[in-house]
Amino acid sequence: MSSVPVTIDLEAFFSVSLDLLCVADTSGTFLRVNRAWSDTLGYSIEELQNRSFMELVHPDDRGPTLEEFSRLKRREPVLNFVNRYRHRDGTYRHIEWRSQQHEGLIYAAARDVTAAKQREQELHHRQELLDLFFQQSLDGFFFMMLDEPVEWNSETDKPAVMEYVFAHHRITRINGAMLEQYRAQESDFVGLTPNDLFQHDIAYGKQVWTDFFDRGALHLDTQEMKFDGTSMIIEGDYICLYDAAGRITGHFGIQRDVTFEREAAARLRESEERFRQLAENIEQVFILRSGDEILYLSPAYEKTWGVPCTGCTDDSQHYFDAIHPDDRRRVHRLIRENPTGFSVEYRIIRPDGSVRWIWERSFPVRNESITDPQSAPRSAAIAQDITERRALEIQLRDASIRDPLTGLYNRRHLFERLEPIWAKHRRDDSPFAIAILDIDHFKAINDRYGHLAGDAVLTSFAALIAANSRAYDLTARFGGEEFFIVYQDTTRDQACELIRRTLTSVRDQVFRFDGHEITMTASCGIADQDDGESVLDIVAAADHRLYQAKSEGRDRVVA
Ligand code: GH3
Ligand code: MG
Ligand code: MG
Repeated sequence: MSSVPVTIDLEAFFSVSLDLLCVADTSGTFLRVNRAWSDTLGYSIEELQNRSFMELVHPDDRGPTLEEFSRLKRREPVLNFVNRYRHRDGTYRHIEWRSQQHEGLIYAAARDVTAAKQREQELHHRQELLDLFFQQSLDGFFFMMLDEPVEWNSETDKPAVMEYVFAHHRITRINGAMLEQYRAQESDFVGLTPNDLFQHDIAYGKQVWTDFFDRGALHLDTQEMKFDGTSMIIEGDYICLYDAAGRITGHFGIQRDVTFEREAAARLRESEERFRQLAENIEQVFILRSGDEILYLSPAYEKTWGVPCTGCTDDSQHYFDAIHPDDRRRVHRLIRENPTGFSVEYRIIRPDGSVRWIWERSFPVRNESITDPQSAPRSAAIAQDITERRALEIQLRDASIRDPLTGLYNRRHLFERLEPIWAKHRRDDSPFAIAILDIDHFKAINDRYGHLAGDAVLTSFAALIAANSRAYDLTARFGGEEFFIVYQDTTRDQACELIRRTLTSVRDQVFRFDGHEITMTASCGIADQDDGESVLDIVAAADHRLYQAKSEGRDRVVA
């Protein structure tokens, strides 16, 4: 067999091979390189041949390269050695070698593995980042891996697999945050299996684990014990890891200590519950507002207002609509303009037409959840039906200023009012007059018809005076059968005229009591602002003129 055709074939193979092929001598000089070298390093074949390859090796790789080269010289083959060669453009290529010596020549096949190396480096870098994230995270992270992956599907004998899992699913990695959560060392955790973790209740543990494997993920809160004996609430997310064949290889867990949040939430629920019980059981209405918008109304509203709460919380206008038209604007203004609180009494009209008096007190409340400084200030208010109390108050006040027999103002109220009214007329320089009336021979009526008849006559006489005077005239029973009328913006002549008419009515009136027909007359003295410097001077002047009217024959007015 001739060797010539074989030589030609090898030559052709040498030049078309995608692998880097070369022949070198034992001094480290390239004797032959194929085309692939030229493609990989950017030099021409001529530039490479007869050149010491060490010149192209990265300075850092020269030591190891020399070592490999001396192994070759000792006739030991070199497998999978990687070093870097300089490209013509100055960058380096990673070259993986397989070479051996044969009869004083080195035969080598090499491959450019730069791209694979770069991928490997990238992967390494990513792994480093992942490790960093794992270690630096504030959440607890851990891996729990199975010694061998397990099949988990509808055909699986799950109890049997669980038996294996509970003994062979081990904690393999755990980060600092999780160790801190448990106040533990890495050695406390690494290697632990579900059998260790669920010591207290293996059956329950298997149930949880089976459920977890079925779903592939689990989110749950658990009560956990730290290594120092204190307890905590852990919120955990656990995710199953699978291999390419879909078998479970282990799982990854993220854990957060949520003890503080959960306890705060529980405290909030408890306080909300207490508030609800209070708000639902008190008779007063509790109102929470943002500006003039109603956020909450306690159930007592329905009883007091006679309408459902929901209307107002949907639209605050319903609240204002229920207020008596005469009070509505005042209340609205107060609510709008007094974010720091107010106290107000107002009337509401219920759907049945009845009017109730409400007393509402408001005070500002903080709302920490609102961060927007532009938002309307919040206020809380207590509203209460005070209709009965108010009626009683009016009665009491009336009792203190009115004469119980005639219903006219009493002497005390008269004197309280006299000074301010007089002062006003002095300031305005407006006309002012006082009339004092006294029934003539009243003692005789008492004597003849009895004291009760006297009372009835007094009452009717008072009604007559009231009927003959105007709303702004102040009429009072001064004592016994003596009455006062304080006229405002009325001249002495006008007062005189009014009194004359009153005296005529008295004279013409027949008072009936117990079958008796009683007639009578009265006398009157009038004084005005010209009669003195003080109001008491004027009273004295009127009294003097009354005395005069009596002495001049009664049933007359002296002014
Ligand atoms: P004059 O014309 O001079 O005024 O004679 P008079 O009898 O009206 O006057 P006098 O002051 O002498 O008598 C007033 C009487 O009024 C005396 C008193 O018993 C009676 N009187 C005072 N207060 C009341 C009352 O509340 N009820 C009754 N029934 N009589 C009263
Ligand atoms: Mg009298
Ligand atoms: Mg008298």
